[in-house]
Amino acid sequence: MTITTDTSHPMVSDEYFQQWQDLIDLLAEFMQVPAALLTHVDENNQLAVMVKNRASTNPYQSNQKFDLTGSETYSEFVIREQKTLFVANAYEDTAWKNKYDPTLGMINYLGVPVTWPNGDPFGTLCVLDTKTHYYSELQLKMMVQLRNIFEAHLDILEQNLELEEVAKTLEYLANTDDLTGIWNRRAFIAQAETELQRTSRHNRTLCLLMFDIDNFKRINDLHGHNTGDEAIKLFTECIMNSKRAYDIFGRIGGEEFAMILPETDLDSALALAERMRECVDQLSLPLVSGENVTFTVSIGLTEYGEEDDGIFALLYRADRKLYEAKHQGKNCVVA
Ligand code: GH3
Ligand code: MG
Ligand code: MG
Repeated sequence: MTITTDTSHPMVSDEYFQQWQDLIDLLAEFMQVPAALLTHVDENNQLAVMVKNRASTNPYQSNQKFDLTGSETYSEFVIREQKTLFVANAYEDTAWKNKYDPTLGMINYLGVPVTWPNGDPFGTLCVLDTKTHYYSELQLKMMVQLRNIFEAHLDILEQNLELEEVAKTLEYLANTDDLTGIWNRRAFIAQAETELQRTSRHNRTLCLLMFDIDNFKRINDLHGHNTGDEAIKLFTECIMNSKRAYDIFGRIGGEEFAMILPETDLDSALALAERMRECVDQLSLPLVSGENVTFTVSIGLTEYGEEDDGIFALLYRADRKLYEAKHQGKNCVVA
């Protein structure tokens, strides 16, 4: 038998684990049994004792694992059939007398299935005894109520996981430029500021590049806005492929981009910028009409100095250099 779980489930936090331990100890007392267990079947189909009552009368080991298939345990049956199992005395029951649990002396079993909110099996809640044992109505009710508590906890764990995932998605969306998938202005500024502080603390060098695609308005005017968008994406890909892993690249405006080059002096930055400019110069965007759109980029470059008190000082200087590059005829780097 294969129990398949169609989604990944959250880990059980320490906080719940402690509570579960106390609940299982109480259950063993209330049911007057030597062994009470919460078992768990994982995504690899391994059945394990997750929580056991702490009494020395309990012969099971925590985290003892069985392949669920063929484990020949009472709990395997409960998980497979997804229903309550009661065995009064395995020695008097041909179906059970030669199975695993009776070899530990556990001839009496009462277990209920525990499931994740989406119906995937979690495991079982069960009590075991070394002698024939019948349970009162109140004790049976207790088992079911306790199972409901465990399932309510699983529900909360699932919801917390979903909330964490939503928070991650929101953070990604808040920091990412829609069109290109690179950092947006806000995220770029935040990361650049952090990098600048590190540079200042450790007396290192750092350069900032500012890019502006040349005559971009003409691409839109001649070929339409969608082609303009494609050109921006192609440009981004080209720069992403030429930058180093630790360079921080972001879109700070329509066809304006910026890059932080950590631990880079002016000469090295100039060489890198020149390589990127050439890379853009070689680009060609094929259109369905058979035409090819080509374009160029101008780059302003500045180096961090001790007097710079924040990223905006560098952005301002790089913007002045970019302006010079445009006036020198575009498609060039000015430092
Ligand atoms: P220059 O060489 O001086 O930079 O000229 P330019 O035409 O590139 O500069 P300008 O600032 O006049 O025009 C930029 C244009 O970029 C204007 C705007 O419509 C267009 N633009 C801004 N964002 C986007 C975008 O996301 N997609 C498209 N298709 N166009 C955009
Ligand atoms: Mg512009
Ligand atoms: Mg432009």
